[in-house]
Order: sequence, then C-alpha cells, then structure tokens
Amino acid sequence: MINYLFKNQNWQSQLNDLITDPFELLEQLKLTKYDLSDDALLANQQFRLRVPRQFVAKMQQGNAFDPLLLQVLPHHLEMHNPSDFITDPLHELQANPHTGLLHKYASRVLLTLTGACAIHCRYCFRRHFPYNDNMPKSQDWLDIQQYIVSHPEINEIILSGGDPLSLTNQKLKVWLNRFSSLTQIKTIRFHTRLPVVIPQRIDAEFLQILDDIPQQKVMVVHANHAQELDQEFDRAMHDLRQKNVICLNQSVLLKGINDNSVTLSALSYRLFQATVLPYYLHVLDKVAGSAHFYQPDSNAIQLQEQLRLALPGYLVPKLVREVNGELSKTPL
Ligand SMILES: *Cc1c(COP(=O)(O)O)cnc(C)c1O
Ligand code: SF4
Repeated sequence: MINYLFKNQNWQSQLNDLITDPFELLEQLKLTKYDLSDDALLANQQFRLRVPRQFVAKMQQGNAFDPLLLQVLPHHLEMHNPSDFITDPLHELQANPHTGLLHKYASRVLLTLTGACAIHCRYCFRRHFPYNDNMPKSQDWLDIQQYIVSHPEINEIILSGGDPLSLTNQKLKVWLNRFSSLTQIKTIRFHTRLPVVIPQRIDAEFLQILDDIPQQKVMVVHANHAQELDQEFDRAMHDLRQKNVICLNQSVLLKGINDNSVTLSALSYRLFQATVLPYYLHVLDKVAGSAHFYQPDSNAIQLQEQLRLALPGYLVPKLVREVNGELSKTPL
C-alpha cells in the first residue's frame, strides 16, 4: 500500500497540499495521453479541481475510467448542460432563515459553518451554492440560538457544508460548546467526507472534543466506492466508535462509477468491515453540470431490488431523493 506515506502525516498539512491542477493529476496517474478539452478546462474554472494526494494514491494508474478519478476530474460534458439541470435544484436559498442555517425537516436543522471541502466532487449539489454570503460568524450565534429556542421541535443539529471537518479543532470546539449548551439539542451530527479522503482528520484532539460533549453523536461519512476505503479509514471509524459515535455512510448513485449491484454490494460489505452502516443512496440531484452522472429512476429502482437480494437488510442503503417542499427525504 502506498498509503503508509500518509499515515503519520498531519491532516492540515495534507489539506494545504491538495492537487488542484488537472495536468498534475493526470501526470501522477500516468495518463499523459489523456486529452483535457477546452470545455473540461472551462469546467475546471467554474469549479476548481481539488483532491487530496492520499485519495489520488488510491486511484489506479493508467486507468482513465478509475471510479475515484471520475468523481474529481473536470469533464467536458459539464459545459453541455440540459436545461432541466439547474444551479439550485433544492431551492435551498428559500429555506434559509438565517445565515448558514437550513430548516426543512421538523426535528433537525442543518448548519453550514464553512464552504470549504477537502475534495471537489463534480456531481455536488452545492457546487453553485453562494457559500461566501452564507457562513455564520460568531456574532450570528445569538440569532441562530434564538431561532432554535423558538422552535422547540428541533432536537438535532447537523453540521454540513462544505465539509465541517475542514474547520480546525479550535473553531469546531467553540461551535460545539455553543450547541451542547442547548438542552433541547439531543444529537449532534456531522455530514463529512474528510474521514474518507484524509482519515488523519479524526485525530486525538478531535476525539477528545467529541468525548466532552454530552449529546449523542453521529458521523455520516460519504464514500461512493469501496476503493475509497483503507486501513486508515478503519482506524478512524474504530476510534470514533470507541467514543460512542454512531457511524453511517451516504453515497450518491453515479453513472459509470457505482451504478451496478456488484460495486454497491462491495461498498456495503467494505463499510461493514469498518463497522459503518450504509444510510442513504441518493439519486443525483439535477444540478447544472452533473447530467453525465445521471441514471434514470427505473435503473435506480432495479438496482435497489438487486441489492435487497444480495445483501442482509442492514447493509441495504435507503434509496432516496430530495424533493422540494417535502418534509423528509423521499424514498423511490
Ligand atoms: C438531508 C437533510 C437533512 C437530514 O435528513 P435525514 O433524513 O435526517 O438524514 C436535514 N436537513 C436538510 C436541509 C437536509 O437536506
Ligand atoms: S460538499 Fe461533499 S459532495 Fe460536495 S464537494 Fe464537498 S465533499 Fe464533495
């Protein structure tokens, strides 16, 4: 395994040393003959390549169809967008009562503390989201707190983003202490891809911070393919479990990456090996620039049927989509 190189490398230095140049990425993978078209480079200007070296080390050299590579490499089809693929398919801007706060489902609010991610996933439904106008600062806490207190049905805070674990431990600690001071909040949840792409993010200091808050903790990681997971991921999940953190995974159904039952079964078993259970399998939101990853519902439903036959029930993710105005995710 090449990944021993990264095992003892501090997560922040890895975050400061991402690959952001598509030509460098192709060179690392010995794909020197790969043709990056003008459209692919334009797509890269709209949403810059960003990928940790540790994630690149898990890609297969010489394979232009590597399932990890396809998730991050700008593609010319992003610039040939069908009209039903739009910039804000979830109308999130409308469910935004305060800076950084999304309240769509009764019992839980979603907070975007940062727009930064360790990796830029080409299919991401937030690739067009105006994060810069929408990041709460310390002075916004009073407003957020007031909103939560005036909605006693809220019992869970979900930290999303961006990737909340791209914040420093110090910053996270300040926010987590604020949340844990609210007695109505029973659960604190993270939606994050960092434990997959830079597992060293789950460090001793962060584990201690989690241990110090009394709420139930949930870590929903995001992996789409078993090849993304390695021993360092297993170590991170093991350490979280030691602190009684419930670990789940969500994936996105992506054409050409994980759209067959063999790949998705292997992912479920690999997650289980790390004691992580599959949570959601999302059908793609129709976000501008992602149409080449789209699979029709009929294929998704057929795939779920195959998974039900292949896997024990607890390893079958729930196939869902997000529908504007619905009060929960919608099963297919
Ligand atoms: C997905 C989502 C949640 C979490 O939904 P669960 O079904 O509880 O995982 C909460 N708020 C918003 C705005 C969401 O998009
Ligand atoms: S929010 Fe998640 S899916 Fe979107 S780019 Fe960041 S890590 Fe990838």
